[in-house]
Amino acid sequence: KSHIIIGAGILGASAAYHLAKAGANVTVIDRKDPGQATDAAAGIICPWLTQRRNKAWYALAKGGAAYYQTLIRELEKDGETKTGYQKVGAVSLHTDPVKLEKMEERAATRRGDAPEVGEITPLSPDQTLELFPPLSKEYASVHVSGAARVNGRELRDALLRAAEKHGAVLVHDSAELLCQGDRVTAVKAGGKQYEADSVIAAAGAWAGELLKPLGIQLDVKPQKAQIVHLQLEEEETGKWPVVMPPNNQYILAFEGGRIVVGATHEDNIGYDLRVTAGGLNEIFEKALAIAPGLSDGTFTEARVGFRPYTPGFLPIIGQIPGIKGLYISNGLGASGLTAGPFLGAQLAKLALGQEVDIDLDLYDPAGAIEK
Ligand code: FAD
Repeated sequence: KSHIIIGAGILGASAAYHLAKAGANVTVIDRKDPGQATDAAAGIICPWLTQRRNKAWYALAKGGAAYYQTLIRELEKDGETKTGYQKVGAVSLHTDPVKLEKMEERAATRRGDAPEVGEITPLSPDQTLELFPPLSKEYASVHVSGAARVNGRELRDALLRAAEKHGAVLVHDSAELLCQGDRVTAVKAGGKQYEADSVIAAAGAWAGELLKPLGIQLDVKPQKAQIVHLQLEEEETGKWPVVMPPNNQYILAFEGGRIVVGATHEDNIGYDLRVTAGGLNEIFEKALAIAPGLSDGTFTEARVGFRPYTPGFLPIIGQIPGIKGLYISNGLGASGLTAGPFLGAQLAKLALGQEVDIDLDLYDPAGAIEK
């Protein structure tokens, strides 16, 4: 049987890896749109401190964070050691002792069925500063040792390379779906036709346009995010924890003095790839208030990505209703690097007709299809 995957962001790359590893015949077709979410993403893997109450969403984020342990091990067995994943821990900052205590409680409760949270340690402002020197002096924090950061580009590429090792074929082109009756039969790309027993649509913010010719109106919206990269003179930054400030921004340190700060959340402006004055101003204003020590960092680049959102900010996964052989996952939103590898593994199982590890009723694609 042959399987085609459309889109090679984190979701498509993971589905490709799992399918190819299971011995399936896989072709991945990706257009490499500028604004691919995976390419711009920050990379925080720390879902356990969230105040979001949606249980269906949390189950995916939690499952996704846990799945990283298995995935990274499997990739290493396949010779992929440059996965971009590092368990560096996270500090969640606050100045209010009550809020800090609540944070600690939340993490402790959630650790009950998520041992990967690791150690939870309240830190004084001095202790916090020691772990992340550019921070302002007034923040105490809760440190969570199981938190990680992942370079989306590197993980995506590691998954695709490993998929290729297991026989997957990668095609750089724009794909169109072809159906006969109530079944998807092939994909057209670059003047070529690829016959398919199953197709996985992992097209991120562009999935609406992919399904439209089939008469399906998928409600997926792009949320624009701008994000900034800085280079510090200090280069021993590889072990610095992820910083989660009280506002909706974050700061990540990678090896060699690279710092990533962001990001904006811009709705209803479509696929606008511009880096704007207002966007940069918002990022710098918030980041430098939290970490004034970053002021001397060299601005190296700003990236723009489109987070794919489906209704209720809840991901979807399953078969497209009424079209046999066509599977989709979408709506990974702001936590797609966390949930993406796990959901990709579930997509592979769906395409192979295997039992999945999640309750599909909670993420029914029908909920995102306009009648
Ligand atoms: P994408 O990565 O967007 O990939 C979709 C791919 O499909 C693209 O390559 C596109 O070209 C291709 N495609 C579309 N249509 C076609 C077609 N017709 N033919 C061929 N190819 C097609 N998540 C976290 O967990 N932690 C974070 O810290 C985090 N930070 C983020 C920061 C930013 C700035 C952004 C933008 C996102 C962040 N996310 C984070 C969210 C995460 O990046 C996304 O949810 C995730 O990457 C979505 O993956 P995807 O594979 O669904 O889509």
